[in-house]
Order: sequence, then C-alpha cells, then structure tokens
Amino acid sequence: MKNPPIDEIVSPEKCSGCGMCRNLCPQNAIRMETDRDGFLSPAIDPKLCVGCRLCLARCPQRRAPELARAEKPEAYACWNLDDAQRAASSSGGMFTVYARQIFARGGVVFGAGYDERLKVRFAAARSAEELKPLLCSKYVQADTREIYREVKGGLETGRPVLFVGTPCQVAALYAFLDGDPPNLYTCDFLCHGVPSPRFYRKWLGHLERVFKTSVRSVNMRSKLCERNVMGIELRLSSSPDRALQYAWHDRGMEYLGRAFLKNYSLRKRCYTCSHVGFPRPGDVTLADFWKLGDLGTDNPEKKKGISLNLINSEKGKRLLEMSAADARFIRRELSEAVDGNSSLRGNTSEPPLRDEFVRDTVRYDYETLVKKYHRQLFGTRLSRLKVKIKKRLRPLVNLLRGRE
Ligand SMILES: Cc1cc2nc3c(=O)[nH]c(=O)nc-3n(C[C@H](O)[C@H](O)[C@H](O)COP(=O)(O)OP(=O)(O)OC[C@H]3O[C@@H](n4cnc5c(N)ncnc54)[C@H](O)[C@@H]3O)c2cc1C
Repeated sequence: MKNPPIDEIVSPEKCSGCGMCRNLCPQNAIRMETDRDGFLSPAIDPKLCVGCRLCLARCPQRRAPELARAEKPEAYACWNLDDAQRAASSSGGMFTVYARQIFARGGVVFGAGYDERLKVRFAAARSAEELKPLLCSKYVQADTREIYREVKGGLETGRPVLFVGTPCQVAALYAFLDGDPPNLYTCDFLCHGVPSPRFYRKWLGHLERVFKTSVRSVNMRSKLCERNVMGIELRLSSSPDRALQYAWHDRGMEYLGRAFLKNYSLRKRCYTCSHVGFPRPGDVTLADFWKLGDLGTDNPEKKKGISLNLINSEKGKRLLEMSAADARFIRRELSEAVDGNSSLRGNTSEPPLRDEFVRDTVRYDYETLVKKYHRQLFGTRLSRLKVKIKKRLRPLVNLLRGRE
C-alpha cells in the first residue's frame, strides 16, 4: 500500500490537531485544512506522499513520547513579583518570569499569539517586546504552522529554548524531536479543551457587525476589566487607542466564554484527551490555582492572579531555581492542586448536543446559532435560580462546616 490510510491520521476522534505530522513529513505532503467541525486537521496530498508512514509511526496520539516526568510533581502557588507583568497575563504571570530567564541567556521563546488578522498561531519571541502578543490565554485552538521545525532550528544554535503550549502540542514537539534536548525547556498548561476557531471567527464577525467596524485587537483574559478578573478587552479600528472592557458575562461577550466553559465548542479529541492527570509532558505545568486555601477570597494577591505551577522534571526545577528572585513560590500539597482543577482528575465530559453545535457553526450565522443553543449554554430559569441560591448560601455552609 503506497499511501497511509488517511482515516488513521485524520479521524477526528483521534487527531488533536497538533500539526506534528505536517512538520515531520519529508515530502511536505501534509497540509492542515479546516475540517467539518471547524478545526485544523491533516490532509495528505497523494501525489506527494511516498508512503514512508513516518507520520503514523511518530504521531504522538498513537505513541506517546517517553519522557522522564514525576508521577507526583511538586506543586507551588506562585506569582510574578513585577505587578505590571502580572497584570498583563492571565494568571500569576509565571510564563513571563520563565520567558525572561530564557531571554537573559540569549535564548528564544515559542508560544501562541495573535497575527494581524487576529488568527491565533504560534510565533517566536526573542525580547520582552516580542513576547507581548504571546501573553494571556486565547480560548481557541492555535495554528502550529511550522513551529516544530522552527524550534528545532532554535535548539541547533545551542541556546536555551522555551516552548509553551497545550499538553498535546508539548508532547508533539518531543515526538517531532524524537528526544528531550538539554537546552529545551517546556511548559504545558492545564487545558480542559481547545475551542473551535470557526466559532471564534463567528464571534468576531458578530462584534464587527455590532460595532460597525473591524476589531483590531482582542484579549480574552484581561484583568483590566474593573468588574471582573475574567475580562475581555477589545480595541476597534475606528478608535484604536481606546480599550473597551467587558466582563465574560456581558451582553455580546457571553457566548464565547459559555460555549468554552460548558464544553460545547471543544475539539472532539479533547473529550478523550490522554494528558489528563499525571505524568505531565512539560517540564513545568502552568495553571490557575483556583482552590488555593487559607489566603482568603479577599486577599489582594488572589485578585491579582495566583498561578499553580507543577514541577515535573529536573529541568523544571532548574527553571524554578533560575526564577527564584523574580517570583514568589509557596509549596502546597498536590492534593490541593488536584482538588481545584478538574483536568487533573479526569476527562472533560462531552455534552449530548456538542456535535450538533459545532456542525451548526457552518449552517447558521452567529445570532441564530446562539439563540438555538441559549438553553444548553445558560440553563433554564429554574436551574439558574438554583445556582444563584447555592452561591448565596455557600458562605453560610462554609461557616457551619468550619464549626464542625
Ligand atoms: C484553551 C485553554 C484552556 C485552559 N484551561 C485551563 C484550565 O482548565 N485550568 C487552568 O488552571 N488553566 C487553564 N488554562 C491556562 C491558564 O488560563 C493560563 O494560561 C496559565 O495559568 C498561564 O498563565 P500565566 O499568567 O503564567 O501566563 P500567560 O501570560 O497567561 O501565558 C499564556 C501562555 O499560554 C500560551 N497560550 C495561550 N493561549 C494558547 C492557545 N490557545 N494555544 C496554545 N498556547 C496558548 C501563550 O503562548 C503563553 O505562553 C487554559 C488556557 C487555554 C489557552
């Protein structure tokens, strides 16, 4: 058989969309194309494919790369000591701390940023200025382009390289390199799934219709919104110097966050992701420390964002040691980290109408789509009322529990 059976690679149930096969193919016979769900998936050009099956042999979804990683990593609550850098990031700003260590040693950092058309794609940064577009979470699957080849090029200079991505992208990098070079540092982040680029574009299109101008920049995890730490910040082409700030639940903004948090807009493979729990693929795992105890909800540090970092390897330890002067690290129990992050406990559950939802992103415009799924995304009036009552009663329940 000349060509590998295309279904073995592109089956949406199996493919994470990491794009490693595209980077690996010596014939450049693999392209990443938008699939029926609106995500990038590999497509093989039969005219170029010589049937070497390298893409199948090294696919990280078929055979995970072997890495020396702790089954029970050290867990830290941590944050960047520079308030401005911390404010410009989604959580405790630890990505910036590690990136600056790499720059200080003449190295290069790879992460996901926006391009000029607001497409989310991987890029390299060699300075604090170039790092800016890579900061903060983008709730959409990033295009990895030829990034694994670029990382390999960076490693060949002998200088340190930091790569940050979803666990499947980090595992893909190791599969591509077929090893763990000494000058490579990686961070995965806790990820309960990556949302659909098609839904994201529909959301942007909706905003442009509402504002009657194009959106020039977007930050989906802005802390600058005064009413909420989970803010969205937009700049429009008509007034680029003015930042518009919204909370995730504000009208017009709410469906992007809801579809993500309610798991409707995620890639099919994310519901059976092999990177939940331990061991983690990155040297360090970045996350939010959602259920950090004994600091109190009103603690100002919590409001500024506190990260959970898991130290998974010797190189992870080195990264922490290098950064000790620029960040505060507080050792915590691993169980506390697991308790606050569902993606350390098990797979994200797939809502019954998820397939219909992502397919409908092709058929319907944004307004019709969100109207059709309003009930699934927001629940019924009764269920919303139950949540409200539960929230109000929570402090009382906690108080009573504390007395027991
Ligand atoms: C899709 C997604 C789901 C997430 N789910 C969880 C979760 O369930 N629980 C949790 O605790 N944390 C989750 N996070 C991670 C969390 O929001 C923070 O990104 C993380 O804690 C790092 O924060 P920071 O302040 O150190 O750095 P930041 O400055 O926020 O750095 C963000 C880093 O993430 C990379 N990045 C951002 N978006 C993407 C993307 N779409 N694809 C690949 N890389 C990207 C950037 O390149 C950068 O390196 C998720 C992030 C994303 C993008």
